Amino acid sequence: MTRNEYADFLLPNVNHSKEEYENIFKERESKGNFVTRIAPSPTGFVHVGTLYTGFVASKFARQNNGTYILRIEDTDQKRLVEGGVSEIVKVLDDYGIKFDEGMKDETTSYGEYGPYIQSQRKDIYQAFAKYLIERDLAYPCFMSEEELNEIRSNQEARKQRIGIYGRYARFRNISIEDAIERINNGEKYIIRLKSPGNFDNKVYVDDAIKGNLEFPENDLDIVIIKHDGLPTYHFAHLVDDHLMHVTHVIRADEWVSSLPIHAQLFDIFEYERPIYAHLSPLMKKDGDITRKLSKRKDPEAAVSHYHETGIPKEALMIYIMTVANSNFEAWFDKCTDGNFMDFELTFDKVSTSGALFDLDKIINISKNYLSKISAKELYERTLEYTNEYDREFYDLLKKYENYSINVLNIERECERPRKDIDSYSSVRKEISYMYDELFNPNYSIKEYYDINFLEDYFENYYSISDDKNTWFDKIKECASKYNYCANNKEYKANPESYKGNISHACEVIRVCATGKEQTPDLYEILKLLGKDRIKIRFEQFKKCFYEVNPIWDTL
Ligand code: GLU
Repeated sequence: MTRNEYADFLLPNVNHSKEEYENIFKERESKGNFVTRIAPSPTGFVHVGTLYTGFVASKFARQNNGTYILRIEDTDQKRLVEGGVSEIVKVLDDYGIKFDEGMKDETTSYGEYGPYIQSQRKDIYQAFAKYLIERDLAYPCFMSEEELNEIRSNQEARKQRIGIYGRYARFRNISIEDAIERINNGEKYIIRLKSPGNFDNKVYVDDAIKGNLEFPENDLDIVIIKHDGLPTYHFAHLVDDHLMHVTHVIRADEWVSSLPIHAQLFDIFEYERPIYAHLSPLMKKDGDITRKLSKRKDPEAAVSHYHETGIPKEALMIYIMTVANSNFEAWFDKCTDGNFMDFELTFDKVSTSGALFDLDKIINISKNYLSKISAKELYERTLEYTNEYDREFYDLLKKYENYSINVLNIERECERPRKDIDSYSSVRKEISYMYDELFNPNYSIKEYYDINFLEDYFENYYSISDDKNTWFDKIKECASKYNYCANNKEYKANPESYKGNISHACEVIRVCATGKEQTPDLYEILKLLGKDRIKIRFEQFKKCFYEVNPIWDTL
């Protein structure tokens, strides 16, 4: 049997040869331009790390007028989740990451270098594996799971390198006859690379982020085709990135240690290696240790967490930019239109150590971001959020549309806008007192609260049509009658002679009207609440006041 027949025997029913595939997936017309990709696995959970890598890769493609690909890596069939591809497509799209080629849904590709899901590319990988078998650079391996486990335990016990190399590569030199006999006897096999590497030699890879890296050559006979006929990650990386003409492989740095394998594969095929750019992982401080942000332990590792908690997408993207490039923040501080996408990412400003993932910082960015959008915009977005997560509040927002927009407009669209709202979910908490349906105060009555002042003020002084100065003068005038000192200097000199100062008087009004000691602008709030609401709230407050201070106390 010739080697070509042997390759056919090991991997039968392959439709095309490697050369034919190379012909089908010709060089791109835009040769020389950036081609980047993201290659997530559809496990039903989109990690912020995927968003981070995906965003960085897309930004580099866009900045360089390049092509951006979404390739789905589903060769590990055990980890797949139904609907996983659509989830990835949806999440990335939601965050404004657009692709030129890739997957539309679970099974449909678009673009000329597809299919873009690995399970539909079996034939292609096998054609490439056959090429290696024909050149005696790959072979069938018949080792059982038990044997492999035993080798591993022995290597661990002897503190040796783990893997199939040297004498552990038992089938490396199997004869064609022996292999055929075993297969005819029904023995199962996988295809391994017959590594031409020598561990004592060095291989160099110039990483766009990490700089020049040196490794021992790969001498592991890695698996290239598994029992199910699908490739391993390493082999798929070679085949896919070569045939899709990817110029820049931007991926997580967990793959750095595989670079000797990848470099070797590209060298064997005499392909130009892509430029690698390995991004450090997102880290989390956990007590005294710093560890990788974990899918299992950290809810904030899931992109869905931000959707559920109502953190605006833009805030997360701005945060991702600050993680991606150390000079982004200073640039963004000076950026007047807030258009963070105008920033040009560069590889040399990507941090080479793990970036600490800082949820507090995201929340801060979110607060700043939300303080700058218009009341109408915030209203619309909150409506969308509550429609999904808080129907009670949604109904109120809908019912009182204009009122709600006006409420959200208090201390907004001004030089120093309010920054108390940190997410769409916090809108309710920050403005609920403006809705009678949600107004349920738990007053804490202080000794300088004077109910007679309050009654007098609301009945005889407060007018909704006053301008702000008149309004404030009237508070001063009325408060003075009840021994609140209108002159702060004077009050500070003799605090014991007064019930309080004007801030104290305002506090009484504020607590009565809103149930809170701190709120945004009281003048605006009273104006929006209006006389009728204020009256009802005053009666409610009065009742509570007399529960704390029985009437005979005040007589
Ligand atoms: N499926 C791999 C991962 O999610 C892709 C790595 C790559 O970008 O090559 O880690």
